[in-house]
Amino acid sequence: MTAYKIVDHTYDVVVVGAGGAGLRATLGLGSAGLKTACITKVFPTRSHTTAAQGGIGAALGNMAEDNWRWHMYDTVKGSDWLGDQDAIEYMCREAIPAVHELEHYGVPFSRTEDGKIYQRPFGGHMRNFGEAPVQRACAAADRTGHAILHTLYQQCLKHRCEFFVEYIALDLIMDEAGVCRGVMAWNLDDGTIHRFRAHQTVLATGGYGRAWFSCTSAHTCTGDGHGMVSRAGLALQDMEFVQFHPTGIYGSGCLITEGARGEGGYLTNAAGERFMERYAPNAKDLASRDVVSRAMTVEIREGRGIGEHKDHIHLHLEHLGAETLESRLPGISETAKIFAGVDVTREPIPVLPTVHYNMGGIPTNLYGEVLRPTREKPDATVTGLMAIGEAACVSVHGANRLGTNSLLDIVVFGRAAAIRCRQILKGGQQHKPLPKDAGQSALDRFDRLRNAAGNRLTAQIRQDMQRTMQTDAAVFRTESSLKDGVAKMTQVAASLSDLKLADRSLIWNSDLVEALELHNLMDCALATIVSAEARHESRGAHAREDFPERDDTEWMKHTLAWVDRSGAVRLDYRPVHTYTLTDEVEYITPRKRVY
Ligand SMILES: Cc1cc2nc3c(=O)[nH]c(=O)nc-3n(C[C@H](O)[C@H](O)[C@H](O)COP(=O)(O)OP(=O)(O)OC[C@H]3O[C@@H](n4cnc5c(N)ncnc54)[C@H](O)[C@@H]3O)c2cc1C
Repeated sequence: MTAYKIVDHTYDVVVVGAGGAGLRATLGLGSAGLKTACITKVFPTRSHTTAAQGGIGAALGNMAEDNWRWHMYDTVKGSDWLGDQDAIEYMCREAIPAVHELEHYGVPFSRTEDGKIYQRPFGGHMRNFGEAPVQRACAAADRTGHAILHTLYQQCLKHRCEFFVEYIALDLIMDEAGVCRGVMAWNLDDGTIHRFRAHQTVLATGGYGRAWFSCTSAHTCTGDGHGMVSRAGLALQDMEFVQFHPTGIYGSGCLITEGARGEGGYLTNAAGERFMERYAPNAKDLASRDVVSRAMTVEIREGRGIGEHKDHIHLHLEHLGAETLESRLPGISETAKIFAGVDVTREPIPVLPTVHYNMGGIPTNLYGEVLRPTREKPDATVTGLMAIGEAACVSVHGANRLGTNSLLDIVVFGRAAAIRCRQILKGGQQHKPLPKDAGQSALDRFDRLRNAAGNRLTAQIRQDMQRTMQTDAAVFRTESSLKDGVAKMTQVAASLSDLKLADRSLIWNSDLVEALELHNLMDCALATIVSAEARHESRGAHAREDFPERDDTEWMKHTLAWVDRSGAVRLDYRPVHTYTLTDEVEYITPRKRVY
């Protein structure tokens, strides 16, 4: 084995990830005087959060009456009753101060005539417990994520937070007692290995959209935190719930925000019919995402798709007029031009449901602490380890996330994790000595991978995985396709032992980065398809043709999936709602979900 140069660091807290979740946590920690390192594989403002377009949800009531309890109701309903209502209560209540805080930090929100934060309608956001659409999405044109991410980064700089940019986190450092003691990382720039020791390690590594062939996520969304947790023998939760966004551009997968429909855009089939009226008579084009994606898929399947292959749908914005498009949707006008060759002031955009968001992830409580659930103690936690943002599953999104609730999730729970650290840590507390071989297993794995001398390239194995997930973990799922998918994914995962690395260097070796990412994606893909096969009901984004109804008696529970090193997946379940609500709200009883 190569003798690697190891550089040691000691911090109170280390945050892995500099998207909205990681930056909000880093800011909260740094400003409280805790010695904090933020490690990120891409420059902070290049994190996927920067691509978020439509808005961040908060019942500010700037456009018309609104109430955070309505927001809570919509979120519980959107989650198809798989979300944990205590966490949802916390998020929707905290949304209002969280957005005001962002405003004070300097986020350049769009404004109403009288200077308030502009809010637009979004799918599934309704007034008065589901009556009619409400304007709740706080927007900075169609570049809300970009505005938030840049502002948070500037605030971090103001508080002199320390960044380690273009460092790839490899694995957690766990001790014999199962306590997380920090993380190992590889510095792309000079090839050195870094051992970060910390009292708390916060994973904010984002989603794993890149397990599919067509997705709206950045190339960096490879489930690295999920992989690290899995390799530490911990569970992933609710991985079968994957959101397809109705309007990815046909061909490229680039996102056209739901805000486009919020501003009055609508979908048509080959006959020019506004078909959403048939599927969701009330909310129409603004029904929740799973509902719209299924409706589009049915239209295409039944032969009413558009184009030579009748395989896509049209999104119309022409009628909104050049002025509105210019002021409210400038980013997507440009995206449509570049990726579909369409002038949105004149013609519709060809769109298709595209993988967009992972509701599942690393299970946590509402303080961001990672769970190690057992039958007896479904809420037991792992000392020293937290997870936030899209990497985590709190669960506020349950079986289906509402648009604008992820930007909200990342700031609310990024902040919650920082508050928790401030409660349980004093700055500069002494560290116990690390175990002698701390981080060695991570290095061994890294070295093996770097020297992999099989026959297949990372790109080939990745393509097999992406094609399998695209076909078998799709909008509609059936027993035979899922069984087939599990068998194929098991084979694809086994083919990792035949991996060949083209480049062995330690400096800027993107081949090695992609191989590391592929291993993380593989655990996510396996957990997803095995969990999906096992869940015999339809709930939110998980639509089984052989089990078309939701089954609350049998299935109102979270899936837990442990992926072992042979690629085998073990499943268990934990109850929904194990905490209590405050006395300001009542439990929202399950009912049929119609829009
Ligand atoms: C195109 C698009 C539009 C969206 N629009 C909206 C919207 O309008 N409203 C809304 O609410 N939600 C929206 N979402 C969802 C939302 O933007 C994301 O869920 C959210 O931004 C995720 O933030 P995050 O901080 O968890 O992760 P990310 O922003 O993905 O950041 C992950 C961070 O982890 C780092 N990282 C990952 N792995 C490693 C590693 N191994 N080592 C070191 N660092 C690592 C990366 O460098 C990065 O800094 C959208 C998503 C997409 C894809």
